[in-house]
Amino acid sequence: MALIVHKYGGTSMGSTERIRNVAKRVAKWARAGHQMVVVPSAMSGETNRLLGLAKELAPGKVDDDHNRELDMLAATGEQASSALLAIALQAEGMQAVSYAGWQVQVRTDSAFTKARIESIEDERVRADLDAGKVVVITGFQGVDDAGNITTLGRGGSDTSAVAIAAAMKAHECLIYTDVDGVYTTDPRVEPDARRLTTVSFEEMLEMASLGSKVLQIRSVEFAGKYKVPLRVLSSFTPWDIDIKEEARSGTLITFEEDENMEQAVVSGIAFNRDEAKISVLGVPDKPGIAYHILGAVADANVEVDVIIQNLSKDGRTDFSFTVHRNDYAKTVDLLKEKVLPTLGAADIVGDTKICKVSIVGIGMRSHVGVASKMFRVLSEEGINIQMISTSEIKTSVVIDEKYMELAVRALHKAFDLDQPAS
Ligand code: ADP
Ligand code: ASP
Ligand code: MG
Repeated sequence: MALIVHKYGGTSMGSTERIRNVAKRVAKWARAGHQMVVVPSAMSGETNRLLGLAKELAPGKVDDDHNRELDMLAATGEQASSALLAIALQAEGMQAVSYAGWQVQVRTDSAFTKARIESIEDERVRADLDAGKVVVITGFQGVDDAGNITTLGRGGSDTSAVAIAAAMKAHECLIYTDVDGVYTTDPRVEPDARRLTTVSFEEMLEMASLGSKVLQIRSVEFAGKYKVPLRVLSSFTPWDIDIKEEARSGTLITFEEDENMEQAVVSGIAFNRDEAKISVLGVPDKPGIAYHILGAVADANVEVDVIIQNLSKDGRTDFSFTVHRNDYAKTVDLLKEKVLPTLGAADIVGDTKICKVSIVGIGMRSHVGVASKMFRVLSEEGINIQMISTSEIKTSVVIDEKYMELAVRALHKAFDLDQPAS
């Protein structure tokens, strides 16, 4: 008998029929002798619907001041789906109980809309499991020290599930979703993408941080920190599929690097459409400029991603960087107000129609020329590279958003990701 955590995403919980299927699948696992904790997301579209209502009531004004209420609001989506799942489990003849984050408790900091889990108290859950119940715990939410409901950022139910699995020392955390595993790239963009049977933790971390939404980045961080065995698999297989077959399906995130295994040079391609580029033009090229600009941005709690400073001409240079699109307007205003006058720069310009495309692979460590192959492929497609950023196991480029799909597909083919791994 093992303690297993299942997580079901929004599409998997998208209708009463799908919730019934989830209940049947979970009941199958429980009847096979496992202690089951289940973490559902809100039914698909529900979080967007709720946040949309807030926008209607405060048009153009939903900002940081509303974050506490936004969390209070958005958390209801998971509360509803969790209760529905518990009811469906009971209808299947199981003993089941659902809890909201504050009831468990899942303790977080107070950073509303992007809170971080700090600790999880599991006594109540253990007592229920020992009494033979299936325990359903809301994804995406927690409670801060002052008793406020918090949420963990979009896609945060993955993180809830992995954190609960870590706290409870679960045997495995299974992330059920609408694809049957982690692919070489998003199969919605490249139909020839291939499922990976295993992916290393480091590669998964890069892919998630570079935009692959199949797992929220913090869930991968948790899995790495606490070595939680983690698998991504489909919730759309028939619920009564053989449990052993199901347990082997999907993609396993691995922590050990198999030294005998020849690593693919590039194992995946990620893309991110959520960034925007800001350029400060005609900046005097002297010490302290990067600090002057980015210090002001950091003080406003805005995260900066790719940064580039051009060669100076006549003692002046252009300084560009990317931020999340949600922070774009705020950052441009801030720079115009605070930095432009004191810095003596010529202008601030921006572009929200960009995207970042990245190639990821542990094998890049031991191969030279991977980045230059990426640049060649893009140039052959006539795609202009605006910015570049590299690390040991990834190379990212910022390009015009309209070329994103072309770039992903061309790179996928050029790095043979459509071919079965040898
Ligand atoms: P859930 O609601 O189950 O959490 P998400 O929509 O958050 O599901 O994540 C699953 C989606 O992630 C897939 O439908 C797919 O379009 C997208 N995706 C992006 N990159 C990848 C990838 N490399 N492998 C698999 N899916 C990916
Ligand atoms: N319901 C939340 C969202 O839509 C959390 C999740 O689905 O993981 O972002
Ligand atoms: Mg998700």
